[in-house]
Amino acid sequence: MDKPQKFETQAIRQQIGTTHAQEHSTPLYLTSSFTYENAEEMRAAFAGEIDKNIYSRFSNPNTQEFVDKICAMEQAEAGYAFASGMAAVFSTFAALLSAGDDIISCRSIFGSTHTVFNKILPKWNISTSYVDLKDTGLWQNAVKPSSKMLYVETPTNPSVDLVDLEWLGAFAKKNNLILVVDNCFATPYLQQPIKYGADLVIHSATKFIDGQGRVLGGVTVGRKDLVDEIYAFSRSTGPAMSPFNAWVLSKSLETLAVRMDRHCENALKLAQFLEANDQIDWVKYPFLPSHPQYEIAKAQMSAGGGVVSFGIKGGLERGKRFLNEIKMCSLTANLGDSRTIVTHPSSTTHAKLSEDERIKVDITPELIRISVGLEHIDDIIADVSQALDHSN
Ligand SMILES: *Cc1c(COP(=O)(O)O)cnc(C)c1O
Repeated sequence: MDKPQKFETQAIRQQIGTTHAQEHSTPLYLTSSFTYENAEEMRAAFAGEIDKNIYSRFSNPNTQEFVDKICAMEQAEAGYAFASGMAAVFSTFAALLSAGDDIISCRSIFGSTHTVFNKILPKWNISTSYVDLKDTGLWQNAVKPSSKMLYVETPTNPSVDLVDLEWLGAFAKKNNLILVVDNCFATPYLQQPIKYGADLVIHSATKFIDGQGRVLGGVTVGRKDLVDEIYAFSRSTGPAMSPFNAWVLSKSLETLAVRMDRHCENALKLAQFLEANDQIDWVKYPFLPSHPQYEIAKAQMSAGGGVVSFGIKGGLERGKRFLNEIKMCSLTANLGDSRTIVTHPSSTTHAKLSEDERIKVDITPELIRISVGLEHIDDIIADVSQALDHSN
């Protein structure tokens, strides 16, 4: 048998069939519905007896190509693509959970996911029990008869803390929990949670997968029986990814490996620069030996990712002055872009948490997050360095 193709090759060569024009690049299928030869073919398509597209809310060739690639990269059985990362997150919960169910998660998760847990799911009597990401010894205490799902991010946003995926997979299995991992920060190029027992993996494709800050997208991949339920929910409720965004994102995947290599190389160099700078209190980056979970990072990630967080001396006011002195890098809420992005989570992305909640997840006032882009590292360091000098 042929050897399975390598990651980089699948990302490029896994293409849907071409049309009569024999395009080299996959064409864009901007169509809301699909036609049939006759009544019998149409009946069979609707009955699910033949593999034919029906309507782009259900499936579309561009969306299918994107999903097929992500499944290959994550070693997943099946998947469904959504209009945004949050549509993927919410639809996964809505499809798999019922009134009375409890989710176990950590407060160190994406801000909007936290809002879904605290403000949206309680409307349907779905609750969330929070555990401390770093204190896994206490997690067993959170398990109760209503526990149904375990939901984590690793590395987390914005503190770049990690969970040991091997431990997590075993814990979920032992307690009969559906393990869902938001793999947005690592991308499948650096880390594949399914290998460690994750049942589902979620991505905000808006971030490193697009990588150029152009479109929103999300995807959930994993166990086929679970994805079938997510598909049944989504095909009737309409959170589908647009064919145009799927076309953009499938192209983006062709360059994911080379982009991530450079993101990681630049991020490590920036982290090393920051660690050596006396204006910085602390730096966190998974592949710096000073990261408290460096050994876990080395075991489950092939490189440290594109996000560095650090604490600037002088706290909140200094942090604001630092942002105001930044010249080249962008001040924006996104991450995973070719452009380097600097944010101050406690006043922006995580402002909805209370001060107390923020401190619990290490989002301290002095924390600055940099999503390191693909500009030349000398220019990135020069900008950060001059902003440190001028904000002093
Ligand atoms: C951005 C993000 C999301 C949400 O994705 P959108 O595409 O913005 O809806 C979810 N999880 C993480 C970790 C993210 O960074």
